[in-house]
Amino acid sequence: MRGILQVYNWLQFNLIPPVCLLCGDPGHEHLDLCRGCLSDLPTIAHPCLSCGRPLQHPATIRCGACQRKPPPFDRCRSAFAYGPPVDWLVQALKFHQQFTAGRLLSTLLVQRFADVPAPDYLLPVPLHATRLRERGFNQSLELARPLAKALGLPMETARCRRTRHTENQSRLTRKERRLNLREAFEVEWPNPPRRVAIVDDVLSTGATAGELARALKRAGVAEVEVWVAARAV
Ligand SMILES: [Zn+2]
Ligand SMILES: [Zn+2]
Repeated sequence: MRGILQVYNWLQFNLIPPVCLLCGDPGHEHLDLCRGCLSDLPTIAHPCLSCGRPLQHPATIRCGACQRKPPPFDRCRSAFAYGPPVDWLVQALKFHQQFTAGRLLSTLLVQRFADVPAPDYLLPVPLHATRLRERGFNQSLELARPLAKALGLPMETARCRRTRHTENQSRLTRKERRLNLREAFEVEWPNPPRRVAIVDDVLSTGATAGELARALKRAGVAEVEVWVAARAV
């Protein structure tokens, strides 16, 4: 099945001219996005180095909250702000299995992360086995796989497991999310690498990435970054 899908993707990528997923105009340079829609995508001009939220004063590098209490990860890099139409693209991949949206997002991620200092490993946020069965795929893995390939970075999927099937986080408060996620990840990584970048589709409260970063650091990883397609603001 995977082989057929790869052939289909190859044919689609190489033979069918790209079309903007948002407005239907011809795509710009192999992207499923036109030049206009590309330049309209929401970005965060001055993000906090630690959590990725927009900073009020561009001269500072960390927001007040992160200065008082830094998150468990060392740095957050997001390609976009989580707002229209990026939210639509993320949801099209995650809930409607539109892999063209996933391919577009991962291509944009490659462009965004091509020049940043490379970590030793990319680590897509694992889904619990039950959630994976429900959804059929892991959207973080769909984003991380092409990114790892394009940047020539190893990707780790076996040494970290999600051990608790957590409730849907979206309706929970920040504190409830923390409690819900406590020790939700298990990392077994003999001779762990120094630097790992967690890859996810969206960072909202940061609870999931934070819990995973904690687990990685307990296992001996020195530095954990979070790379996301979109940062909720
Ligand atoms: Zn367009
Ligand atoms: Zn911050």
